[in-house]
Amino acid sequence: MLQLAKLFSLLFGRSRLQGGTPDGFSPPEPPGLYIHMPFCKSFCSFCPYIKAPFSQAASGGYVDLLLRELSLYNTPVFTSLYVGGGTPTADIDVLCEITERLRARINNEIAVEVHPLDASCTSLEKLKSGGVDYVSIGAQSFSEEALRHFGRNHRASDAREAVRNAVSTGFKAVDVDLVFDLAVFSPEVVMSDFTETLNMNPLQISVYPMMRFGLTGDMKKRHDWRAEATVFSMLEERAVNAGYKRSSLWTFTAEGREETYSSITRPFFLGLGISAASFDGSIFSVNTSSLEHYSRSLGEGKRPAGGHLKLKQLLSCLYYSFWALYRGRLPHEEVRRLFPKAWRMLKPLLAIQRIAGNVYQDSYETKLTEKGRITFHRLEEGVTYKFIDPLWTEMKLEKNL
Ligand code: SF4
Repeated sequence: MLQLAKLFSLLFGRSRLQGGTPDGFSPPEPPGLYIHMPFCKSFCSFCPYIKAPFSQAASGGYVDLLLRELSLYNTPVFTSLYVGGGTPTADIDVLCEITERLRARINNEIAVEVHPLDASCTSLEKLKSGGVDYVSIGAQSFSEEALRHFGRNHRASDAREAVRNAVSTGFKAVDVDLVFDLAVFSPEVVMSDFTETLNMNPLQISVYPMMRFGLTGDMKKRHDWRAEATVFSMLEERAVNAGYKRSSLWTFTAEGREETYSSITRPFFLGLGISAASFDGSIFSVNTSSLEHYSRSLGEGKRPAGGHLKLKQLLSCLYYSFWALYRGRLPHEEVRRLFPKAWRMLKPLLAIQRIAGNVYQDSYETKLTEKGRITFHRLEEGVTYKFIDPLWTEMKLEKNL
């Protein structure tokens, strides 16, 4: 797996995005749709995402830009819609306008990220009536000290109330996001947050080690991956005792339920909005991070391109396989169908990983072993620092021009 990590970061990490507009967007099957709502009412100290200060006028005008951008693509239907941010719920009416206008073109679920301060029963009911099926509550922690450390603008009681409201509203899926930072807090803090969340019975709990991105201040400390791996083993044990299973690298889902809440459940996706990424199986592209550039390009009827990478089939296949394994399973038939040439090269790579004890296989799928999860945890952090962080840094610098 480490060879795969080195290969991955060598190929992706040192690549620089090419400028210009990529040719078309032609996925081999209907893609997922991602919408980036960048507006936040308050900025958290750890946050690496591309965002802008909230104002009603800016948020309202943004909907027209999103729809104009969508009209540039010849994609009639999407498998799912995921609205992330930023804070998509900063203006619930704007969010409902988006979901209502797109519902007829979405085959499966509509999922949105919800800030705890926007999760009153009335607002959540509005979202449900607007066609939203899945919600993810950005609780992050139930420790006041940890919330202060992450620079959140809400209290632990707001996070608790938000989760309870979401569970009682009756969405098809409720996810709760938690984050932990072992450089500052003991494992007991995340274990206590996790237990409290289990007691509120959401469908899924996502637990993330805090990543220390460039341009987010002085938080440059190394990860202790061994300590993090121990935390995930403890979380898994507690989850299993409470009737949950580990459904992907960093998520836990109630036993007997097949739904999972994730922004990356689709192999191919179209991203709308500033900084949104798209992948059609051969081109990975990102939009501009500048609101001004975004609005100007769309005014001229052009795609608001920020940069793109053309990927050979093997790289596309590795990219796809990476996220499939992150989600828990790599289905062989699907890889063979989508990447026929690369599948022949991937097979021996997977066989090496099987011999190394990182994966187990039957003729249908490949899954991570316990050892593989630990290796993959390191790989995921490596990809974040070697690929995603430099990419976001470049994008933010573009924004500040
Ligand atoms: S973590 Fe969420 S709410 Fe906080 S600044 Fe980032 S996008 Fe905004």
